Amino acid sequence: MLVETSHPGNIGAAARAMKVMGLQRLALVRPRCEVGSEARARASGAVDVIDNALTVPTLAEALEGVHFVAGTSARSRRLGPEVVDLRAGVGDWAAGIGAGASAIVFGPERTGLDNDALDRCNALWRIPTAGDYASLNLAAAVQVVAYELRQALDGGVAGVAEETVEVAPAEEVAALCEHFGRVAGRVDVINPQAPRLGLRRVQRLARRARPESSEVKLLRGFLSAVERAIGSRKAVSEDKS
Ligand code: SAH
Repeated sequence: MLVETSHPGNIGAAARAMKVMGLQRLALVRPRCEVGSEARARASGAVDVIDNALTVPTLAEALEGVHFVAGTSARSRRLGPEVVDLRAGVGDWAAGIGAGASAIVFGPERTGLDNDALDRCNALWRIPTAGDYASLNLAAAVQVVAYELRQALDGGVAGVAEETVEVAPAEEVAALCEHFGRVAGRVDVINPQAPRLGLRRVQRLARRARPESSEVKLLRGFLSAVERAIGSRKAVSEDKS
């Protein structure tokens, strides 16, 4: 998925980069340019990928029905998931965390992905580079990622969905994070000056861990027990006073 791409040449070159690696489904989120002759010329033999591309106004729409979202970034970001090197990220995906429909999201040429997009990602992949200058051309980044995916798919990723993990739906994970936030507030482990920051860390952890429903239940049971314990202790101390 290409978000707010400005240069038609990059869209064409990305389509070509995908097709040579056997990837077909391109989504264009709010493109900032006309997807016309320049894009088609750069696509060369991959014009069909452009013709079949889905164009949508928001990333949320592009991600409907997707279970695993990998963002791509040249640098670590304050928000969003922890950045991992591409090969390791693709390896995790291949090992099964990406069971179900997966999407890879690329940001606009100048600014990269914004916070709203980062919040939707389960993982953030970085193409490691030689030095400090780590920003690849958008289509070049698509090529490298598509290549690594191809390698993983050809290298026996038959295992991808061998053991299907029942990852908890997003709303269960969100409820767990809120529950944690409530309990953490009561036992003073979240800085009251910056409660959102503490909560974001927990959300980040949960997105990375992708817990199963039974694991979410276990943790919520624990949190409820802590709540009960605090409640009864409070009641005892109130009795004594
Ligand atoms: N100045 C922007 C660069 C955006 S480059 C920034 O610092 O984020 C446009 C897009 O290409 C990025 O959003 C990302 O999707 C991809 N990209 C470029 N270099 C990359 C790298 N080293 N690793 C992963 N993705 C990269």
